[in-house]
Amino acid sequence: SNTDKYAVLGNPIEHSMSPLLHEFFAQKTGQDLSYGRILVETGTFEKTVRDFFKNGGRGCNVTVPCKLDAYKLADSLSDYAKAAGAVNTLKVMEDGSIYGDNTDGRGLVYDLKRLSCPLADARILIIGAGGAAKGILLPILNEAPKEIVIANRTVSKAQSLSSLYSDKVKGCGFDELEGSFDLIINASSTSLSGELPPIKDEIIEKAQAVYDLMYSKTALTTFTQKALSLNVPKVSDGFGMLIGQAILSFELWRGVKPDFDSAIKKFRPC
Ligand code: NDP
Repeated sequence: SNTDKYAVLGNPIEHSMSPLLHEFFAQKTGQDLSYGRILVETGTFEKTVRDFFKNGGRGCNVTVPCKLDAYKLADSLSDYAKAAGAVNTLKVMEDGSIYGDNTDGRGLVYDLKRLSCPLADARILIIGAGGAAKGILLPILNEAPKEIVIANRTVSKAQSLSSLYSDKVKGCGFDELEGSFDLIINASSTSLSGELPPIKDEIIEKAQAVYDLMYSKTALTTFTQKALSLNVPKVSDGFGMLIGQAILSFELWRGVKPDFDSAIKKFRPC
């Protein structure tokens, strides 16, 4: 058929919301496409993706644990994918080559702007130095913050990540944190296991905005609950980032940009 095929690849994959989001975008923008879920067994990413493209796939999203495999497979990469060292979006180009992008960080910035969180000239704390932190640094730096401090449990990881950027970006351990931050972003996986990063209440309560990359159905995570209990004015989980990264992938594939607000209303009615 003429219907263009897309999919999300990962493991596990059955919980992924991407098919719902992209089908909604397609309907809203009048684009004729289908979007499925593909479970990737260990060691089969390259074959799975190449088979999908051979059978009419035009692009795909890539999630845990395949983002590095997608980075390696791409023939060319966006600056964001290069900086992240990971790819969440693949696109088959006109010449048949495979382009890799990473829309996670720009999806976050899109949501932070929507929520009017401090960015330009702001002092920003990023908690965590893993894959998610790596993926958001360049898009946040593009917003011209005053300073970015990366705090991580394994201090050497924060230091080596910060050293890839200008001296606006600093890496440290949790005990070395000082001063106040306008925006605190939790890019650690602590909320996944119901834990909290060891940040003093005094630091959290001085922030204007707290954003947790993790999202949940109720919009609450361990870290957003903590920030709410300390009366931080703006508190958000990462659901808008999920929508934002999907919108940017869709735009890369189809050349039209779905509307953010109608997607938020539909999928996050609370
Ligand atoms: P990684 O495994 O790459 O990194 C985990 C990070 O969390 C490391 O910095 C690690 O520190 C830190 N960490 C883990 N446990 C603790 C703890 N008990 N105390 C302090 N620090 C801890 O994970 P990712 O970067 O891939 O993912 C992080 C989060 O981002 C996840 O919750 C994920 O759901 C979310 N995410 C959300 C997206 C969205 O669209 N909303 C997109 C992508 C990710 P150390 O280095 O010391 O081990």
